[in-house]
Amino acid sequence: MTPEQGPAFAGARTGNHSYSYKRSSLKSIHDECGVFGIFGHEGASTLAYLGLHSLQHRGQESAGIATWDGRKMFLYRQMGLVGDIFSHEVLAGLPGDCAVGHVRYSTAGSSSLLNAQPINCQYAGGDLALCHNGNIVNANTLKWELMNRGHLFQCSSDSEVLLQLVAAHTAPRLHDRVAAMMESARGAYSLVLLGRDEMVAVRDPYGFRPLVVGNLKGATVVASETTALSLIGATYEREVEPGEILVVTRGGRESHFPVRAPRLAQCVFEHIYFARPDSIVFGRQVYEVRSLFGRQLAREAPVPNGDVVIPVPDSGTSAANGFSKESGIPFDMGLIRSHYVGRTFIEPEQKIRHFGVKLKLAAVEATIRNRVVVVVDDSIVRGTTSAKIVQMVRDKGAREVHLRISSPPTRWPCYYGIDTPCREELIAARLHDNRLIARELTADSVGYLSIEGMHRVVSQGSGNGWCDACFSGRYPVPPEAGYSSHTREAKS
Ligand code: AMP
Repeated sequence: MTPEQGPAFAGARTGNHSYSYKRSSLKSIHDECGVFGIFGHEGASTLAYLGLHSLQHRGQESAGIATWDGRKMFLYRQMGLVGDIFSHEVLAGLPGDCAVGHVRYSTAGSSSLLNAQPINCQYAGGDLALCHNGNIVNANTLKWELMNRGHLFQCSSDSEVLLQLVAAHTAPRLHDRVAAMMESARGAYSLVLLGRDEMVAVRDPYGFRPLVVGNLKGATVVASETTALSLIGATYEREVEPGEILVVTRGGRESHFPVRAPRLAQCVFEHIYFARPDSIVFGRQVYEVRSLFGRQLAREAPVPNGDVVIPVPDSGTSAANGFSKESGIPFDMGLIRSHYVGRTFIEPEQKIRHFGVKLKLAAVEATIRNRVVVVVDDSIVRGTTSAKIVQMVRDKGAREVHLRISSPPTRWPCYYGIDTPCREELIAARLHDNRLIARELTADSVGYLSIEGMHRVVSQGSGNGWCDACFSGRYPVPPEAGYSSHTREAKS
């Protein structure tokens, strides 16, 4: 089986998707994703594989790579983890010196392989592959308009709407088509496109999701996070600017800025949870920012009688370190994480999630027994994980358990690319008082970072330039009417 004939297309044949032509029935799905691209390196597919490996935390459900060898495009997409999908054989079937790749997590269920990326098409300009990180908040309207002009859709992903908008335009140059797409698509998109002898990297004008550019021996590399550049030995040059279309051809690079936004809206949750701590995101080292969140949290919500600070690994580790340094309470490992299970959050069924926390984390009695324990995590979503952790720590003999969270209460769903459950499932949307949340989680106390404290860390207090909608409910780009932010509702 050649990559082009591979499982992606087999999946397309077996998919059981159907649309009735009713606008209200259109539902775009929402993904957490990572993207990668390299132009002008003979080991392109292997480097894309490595790049995607270091972006695996951004999506664990499916992955794919498309390459261009100067004549033809090759594509391989599959469900699963990067390391399991791409064997030597598969990579050997992806020739060429240009590659784009994608990792994805969504809750789209049985049709997921259809939604795996890169998504591709043939249009007037030849072959085209597209990788998208973000969410388009007017995707259903755009899809409806395109369908009424005769466009056919193969999957439910909003990324296909972007691909069709690009392909449908009549401008001869790819970047002009992309510019036209940017005029109509609203929301969050960091994109990498691969065309005929051309790679195009795009960031929406609000700059919701990260995208960086680097250089590897003259080859241009783009990636969601710098961790992908570091792994392959590429030098970090800069971010793709908000609103920038970066065109990479055999002749070099050029930039276009066709659309301006009224303001920047970089996702603060990338710094809180989503990005890897070793990455530089929006110009700052994530580890350092998380550690400062922890310090700020220790000032805002101290635990004066605390004996030990323990992180919820890995997501709470950097902030716990900061909390410990600021408070003077010793840092220790009270929870050990098994590295052989994925993120428990990604399990769709509530009952599996409950079991999953125990699969992933185990408490260390020697660190905990008879102590006043400060447990630091980055966020509470439903509260399922935290409740289990508090119980685990109590079971090992803690005298008191105080939960400290290095972000403000998550009260609103994300419309721009972070998977969040519906509002009713968010514990802090249901319960507005920390004491009530502590009672539900059976903790002695719960303390969150304030929104102001968070902005003090990321932007010296102004709050400008950031999207904090999941905490504040202030959405920089309002979604279309009837937009559903979450894909989990059907399952819960
Ligand atoms: P919950 O049990 O629903 O409160 O989940 C909270 C845990 O999920 C925390 O440890 C977070 O690190 C993690 N988390 C927060 N947001 C996400 C997300 N969008 N995807 C996966 N995990 C998340």
